[in-house]
Amino acid sequence: MFLLDKLEHYAGTDRIALLYRDQAVSYRALHRQAEAFAAYLLDTFGESDAPVLIYGHKELLIPACMFGALKAGHSYIPVDTTFPRERVADIVEQSAPCLTVNLTETALSAAKVIDGGALERILLEYDGRFDGVDRLADDHTVYTLFTSGTTGRPKGVQITARNIAAFDEGIAPWFDCGLTEGVFLNEISYSFDVSVCALYYALSRGFTLYTVDKQTLSDPKALFTALRASNIDIWVSTPSLAEFCIRSEQFCETLLPETKKFVFCGEVLTKKLAKEMLSRFPHAEIVNAYGPTETTVLVTAVRITETLCEDTRPLPIGYPFSNLRAIIVAPDGTALSEGQYGELLIVGDCVSTGYLNRPALNEKAFFMEEATKRRGYRTGDLCCMENGLLYYLGRMDGQVKLNGFRVELEDVESNLAHVENIARAAVVPVYEDGKTVALTAFVSLQEADGLSSLARAKKIKTALAETLPSYMIPRKIVAVDAFPLNSNGKIDKKALSALA
Ligand code: AMP
Repeated sequence: MFLLDKLEHYAGTDRIALLYRDQAVSYRALHRQAEAFAAYLLDTFGESDAPVLIYGHKELLIPACMFGALKAGHSYIPVDTTFPRERVADIVEQSAPCLTVNLTETALSAAKVIDGGALERILLEYDGRFDGVDRLADDHTVYTLFTSGTTGRPKGVQITARNIAAFDEGIAPWFDCGLTEGVFLNEISYSFDVSVCALYYALSRGFTLYTVDKQTLSDPKALFTALRASNIDIWVSTPSLAEFCIRSEQFCETLLPETKKFVFCGEVLTKKLAKEMLSRFPHAEIVNAYGPTETTVLVTAVRITETLCEDTRPLPIGYPFSNLRAIIVAPDGTALSEGQYGELLIVGDCVSTGYLNRPALNEKAFFMEEATKRRGYRTGDLCCMENGLLYYLGRMDGQVKLNGFRVELEDVESNLAHVENIARAAVVPVYEDGKTVALTAFVSLQEADGLSSLARAKKIKTALAETLPSYMIPRKIVAVDAFPLNSNGKIDKKALSALA
């Protein structure tokens, strides 16, 4: 696999691969650790290719575990600490990992679990014992990322080495700024696929990943101190992070004098933010990029200019990468022409092999383009194409983006319905300036509980935190006697939105 070859190449240099707080890991050390972990896996699990689950956040040993797993012919499943124990248990049940590396304090039950201390001992014990033969085939899954699913259970998107190679080829011109080394922002949790930009694009080009964890991200003083010391050349994040930063006047060229590109993705980039970025970073390029996890990180990109900001339309999400096809279709599947809105389909080598063990979901979301024998994915995004540029209007279903996180409203509703004494639940997004800023849940109770609204909301949120990641928990929970219904007899979400 190209990344593993490149890691080997840079292992002969003294370059720094990872920087995290006051610690640095060289390419040499990263490669050695990955090989030691691979040797341990081969020794323990033989030629098994069952996945390795990694539960943690931004710990420095995570990339070594990922690449070590690949070297030994396994895929990996990164699960962030925002996922509570029950959701991790569900992921374990769905994916049957041969090994779970648990870098958190949360106890997990899985077939075989090792903690951080055991991992360190393994890396010492197996140092220098790898036979040097990388075992991952191009069509083998590299990683499975679990994302919000409408049934209330997360679904695992499987991505192969071939998918990543297609992504790398498509994104390369957009990241390129003529550098042969540099610093790349690494702030996205490894359980979200935008982190693949750092792990694959940047590491395979000898860049240094400047790692920022969620504790630093939530503390403006610590964040700005980290950014000032970073010398970041390429910034990749959701617009939400930049929106948070831009509240401070410090967020400008003097803070990040080296930054040549800001690539935003994962959610709508507003004109307001884009204009502010253009004026605060006049020498940097601002790029809006788009893509679902199912099509490997990103599939379109466009440089944002003053002219695009002055246009009456929203900002475009980009030009499709040259190695894939973007098609807009009507509900009956017929292709639409320029300027007409419909569902965006993506066809190409970037399209996932499907959700792990979910044939019914795969049937709905993926298809094979007969003429080219290439896989396609129905994005569920309402888009239109004009002069080769794609414009995004919104979702065609109940999926929302909240601070860059993908949330299926039905996932939250289904988990609410399992909370004690809740009869029925409906969740609606709360918008500010056209952007989802929070969720409000409306619930009907099986029987009166005699609690104040505040106490009830707290109790329900505590129960939800057992099964849902923190970012999916509604900010407000409102008890209703009855739900407003629309003419089909379904809960009238429009009416609820007005009350959210
Ligand atoms: P995820 O799989 O978490 O990356 O979420 C993919 C979804 O996020 C897409 O299907 C879109 O709905 C949304 N999305 C991603 N990038 C953008 C963007 N640049 N502008 C608007 N929506 C986006």
